[in-house]
Amino acid sequence: MVRLTWKKSPNSVVLPFVGAIVFAIFFFGVSMWEFSRTEAQARSEVVRFASAFVTTYANHRSNDMPLPAAFRRLGLEAFVDEHGKGRDHAPLTVRVPGTPGLELAVQEPDARLGLMISILAQNPTLPMIEEHRIEDGRVVARSIFPSIAKSETCVSCHNEVLNREAYKVGDVMGAFVVESDLTSAIHKNLAYSGVAFLAGLMGCSFLARRENRRMRSVVELEAQVHLERQKTASEAKAKFLLAHDSLTGLAKRAVFLDRLERELNADGAQRLYIVLVDIDDFKAVNDTFGHDAGDALLVAVANRLDELAKYNGGSAARLGGDEFAIILHQSDVFPTENQLGIFVAEAMRTEVSHEGLSIRPSCSVGVTALPESLGTTVSALLKSADAALYAAKNAGKNQHQVFDEKIRQSMMRRSIIGSALPKAIEDGEIRVAFQPKVCLRNEMPTEFEALARWSLNGEDVAPDEFIKIAEDNGRVQDIDLAVLRQAATFAVEAASDTNVPIKISSNLSALGFRSDHIADRIEEILLETGLSPKLLTLEVTESVLIENATKVNEILGRLRQRGVKVALDDFGTGFASLRYLRQLLIDEIKIDRSFVVDVVDDCEKYFLFNKIVEMAIGLNKTIVVEGIESKSQADLIMKSGVRFGQGYYYSVPLGLKEAKAYCIEHMKKRKSA
Ligand code: C2E
Ligand code: MG
Ligand code: MG
Repeated sequence: MVRLTWKKSPNSVVLPFVGAIVFAIFFFGVSMWEFSRTEAQARSEVVRFASAFVTTYANHRSNDMPLPAAFRRLGLEAFVDEHGKGRDHAPLTVRVPGTPGLELAVQEPDARLGLMISILAQNPTLPMIEEHRIEDGRVVARSIFPSIAKSETCVSCHNEVLNREAYKVGDVMGAFVVESDLTSAIHKNLAYSGVAFLAGLMGCSFLARRENRRMRSVVELEAQVHLERQKTASEAKAKFLLAHDSLTGLAKRAVFLDRLERELNADGAQRLYIVLVDIDDFKAVNDTFGHDAGDALLVAVANRLDELAKYNGGSAARLGGDEFAIILHQSDVFPTENQLGIFVAEAMRTEVSHEGLSIRPSCSVGVTALPESLGTTVSALLKSADAALYAAKNAGKNQHQVFDEKIRQSMMRRSIIGSALPKAIEDGEIRVAFQPKVCLRNEMPTEFEALARWSLNGEDVAPDEFIKIAEDNGRVQDIDLAVLRQAATFAVEAASDTNVPIKISSNLSALGFRSDHIADRIEEILLETGLSPKLLTLEVTESVLIENATKVNEILGRLRQRGVKVALDDFGTGFASLRYLRQLLIDEIKIDRSFVVDVVDDCEKYFLFNKIVEMAIGLNKTIVVEGIESKSQADLIMKSGVRFGQGYYYSVPLGLKEAKAYCIEHMKKRKSA
């Protein structure tokens, strides 16, 4: 039998072994080369986009403009090649830290990024937050442009501009967000797939491990970049929101004060303007049109102020609620603060559209300038602007006022009255005058309205003036209750003098409804004085609707249950819509005096008066017309179907003694009639 044996020769053992080693070394070399090449490619892809951004950024803006924080945080630095200086699209080198030799020269700016930059360039002071992340194997760039997006249309138009590849837009905290797939190229360029295939064929686990490691390091690199950028972006966002209002994107109060401080400390002889803007009756806008509409109005006002400030090298801020401010230097566009005031007030009046609604904003504007303000400190400047704003509100809102000597005087007067009032209230210096409401047909009094009176240093102060100051100082309820107590006492005494029940009405400030105990206090006074609740009418103005409507109705409802009547004073002067007025628990409507003035001579005024009467009739309440000063007015008013009135034609407000005498005289007349 022949046995075939295979004899191992030294060569036959060594050769395959050596071959395997050579093969392994070859693949090890290839894989190492491939590994470092792939890693470098991955890195360079990320960097390419960063550098493309940097290039376009630098081309659009000045070369010494600092890089966006996101790039600086990554350690990327941009260098304009010395040789290329002065040329268009100067080559730009971007260096990545920790990778010596990995430097990239970028000649051509990326077109998409160019568009992004041109948007930035048009809005040079816009802060921008950049973020990149890996998503489904793609590097997604997220750019956040706070306050670029002014409306939905604007968002989609930016999308249109930036797009084809921007695939997602959204509105995050007032910011315009564009996401775009910047680097699908990264994975395309990672030529790992070929090596992995070869490694699989050879069953070479070593290479497979290498491949895994390579994959891992690519992923790790991406993750590292991603994390770093995320950190940067969220830090930037947090930082942004710390200093900026999330709804409007404007700077917050603290930032504004800081800027003002810096402006004051800066050298330069240019005059400085401070403008305060306050939306009139903002609560009513919220209540009438809803909070979304209120927000839309705030954003619209903020955008207008922001634009105005930026175009003129200034800055805008939201000081809180519905109050805004801008700082601006004197310029050819606005040589005087009055011109600036006119411009701001006018700019605010443009209609705001929100979901089919059209809101016409009304804003009060106060302007002051350095050095004419009360002083050269931040607080003096703000005080002056505030006084101008207050004057604009007092003069009827929806207008501007410039801080001047007159306002300075009235500010001082306010402070004198404000400090004298508390003592006057405690010392019982608030007196009452009584003005009859009459039946227009027979001119007989039906009720007496109690009106507060006060003199300071022997001079009468108008209630409109001291009531407003008492409201600002939180003392108005004390005055209201002091007046009510005196009025109730008068009614009880006059009733016993005439043997006829005397009805009175007393004014209640809207601010009194903030107190939980107002109804208790009124009931206490009724009890103390012995006045029947049925003989009392409380007059409130539309401004009660600024308070919590449910609470107001709770208080009024409780008093009405006891028999007290409620009148809506100065009807037609407020902002409240009929829908809201309908919800208010009232028995009587007093049409404001302003509708009666000129009603006889002016057809338009008469037309308007009739419209207001129609509205009041629509609410189905007793109607009283205020401020009747002549017989011809009275006759015309009667023709409109109104039955009750009040005014100097019948009687001016009377002191306590005169009012009692008036009562006695008229009750006698009534008895003899
Ligand atoms: P009001 O409650 O609408 O009172 C009517 C105001 O019009 C009174 O002014 C009255 O003197 C004035 N008036 C009445 N008839 C005529 C007229 O024919 N022609 C003209 N030109 N004026 C007329 P007064 O007393 O200066 O009070 C002004 C406002 O001050 C009141 O308007 C009311 O809103 C407020 N007020 C007065 N007393 C009080 C009070 O005790 N508490 C509160 N919260 N407000 C008060
Ligand atoms: Mg009144
Ligand atoms: Mg009135």
